[in-house]
Amino acid sequence: MTPTRTDPLAFLTGQLDALRAAGSFQRLRVLESACDPVSRFDGHEVINLASNNYLGLANHPKLREAAIDAIKHYGVGSGAVRTISGTMRLHMELEERIAAFKNVEACVVFQSGFTANAGTVSAILTASDHIVSDALNHASIIDGCRLSRAKIHVFPHKDAGAAEEKLKALDGVPGRKLLISDGVFSMDGDIGPLPDLVAVAERYGAIMMVDDAHSSGVLGRNGRGTVDHFGLHGRVDIQVGTLSKAVGVLGGYVCGSRDLIDFLYHRARPFLFSTSHPPSVAAACLAAFDILENEPERIDALWNNTRRFKASLRDAGFDTGESQTPITPIIVGDAALAHAFSRALFDNGLLATGIGYPTVPEGRARIRTIVTAAHTAGQLDRAAGIIASVARQMRILP
Ligand SMILES: *Cc1c(COP(=O)(O)O)cnc(C)c1O
Repeated sequence: MTPTRTDPLAFLTGQLDALRAAGSFQRLRVLESACDPVSRFDGHEVINLASNNYLGLANHPKLREAAIDAIKHYGVGSGAVRTISGTMRLHMELEERIAAFKNVEACVVFQSGFTANAGTVSAILTASDHIVSDALNHASIIDGCRLSRAKIHVFPHKDAGAAEEKLKALDGVPGRKLLISDGVFSMDGDIGPLPDLVAVAERYGAIMMVDDAHSSGVLGRNGRGTVDHFGLHGRVDIQVGTLSKAVGVLGGYVCGSRDLIDFLYHRARPFLFSTSHPPSVAAACLAAFDILENEPERIDALWNNTRRFKASLRDAGFDTGESQTPITPIIVGDAALAHAFSRALFDNGLLATGIGYPTVPEGRARIRTIVTAAHTAGQLDRAAGIIASVARQMRILP
């Protein structure tokens, strides 16, 4: 006799029904072309304002060629984690290249920006330590903090004074202190108050860590990130960056002292327990750094496009929040409305993601747009026109 068994995962169905009722259930959009300024999703050609491919490198001929070349010479997989036998010459070259680019002693590359953050914070801190963290820091930082079991003290977004209060209250309390912030915040496109945070960290002897995922390749000379943008060289102990956004490929990295990197080689769990990048990934990233160093005009094009597009949205009367970077939110308030807006834009030839609670605070739902260096002025003007006319039809604009 087969015992009747009720599905122990049935509770998930109820939670999905709640998402559907709230208008927040989302099907995955399927990309059927390369990630280009105009991409094909689900059979439709649309202007793509939803990628992090800031410099248009994800489908760049030089990166493609480097990847193919690496596959021809070294195959498609590394065969092991870095610490066993999966460290290839290309991985070491990439780490040395990034360290030189960022003007730091050393660099370790992780499988992703997510694992770089989560693996680093959890490796260097323990339950007897303290983390002072911006309220809007990325999920991978939050997970790293939780995994470390250190005590987490959250300060209001970008409030360096509040961060100082937290550290002051911890003065004399045993344990190490880490002050951590995104360089550019991914949902609002605003820049963290790094000069103030660095000064606070120095005053209280805290470790300073910055996540430059959205600033790598975007801010600073040749895209060196927020530390370079603000002239804070030598004053940020741990700089995280990503290879998955402007660099166009996949991966994350940590830059800092030789000892920090040697320690992470021994203790960062994603480094120890998850297989290293395929050689094609490392080779494509190396080609991307050639472009960052030799073609700064790409970054200029990104910022020209950013200014042009932001001006069109502002002129149309949208609330674009506090953005200072190519990430421009269009805030509509209600999550169901944001998702409906995104769907209507798609039907009119444009992809921009709807984002609601819990990714952004309740009442601050938005569509998020990201322009790239590869968009033409014509594409951006057309995009702004589509957004304004759909918004008027939906009464988002008067
Ligand atoms: C995207 C992002 C990450 C994760 O980077 P991946 O390389 O995609 O894993 C980390 N931090 C921030 C702030 C990000 O926006």
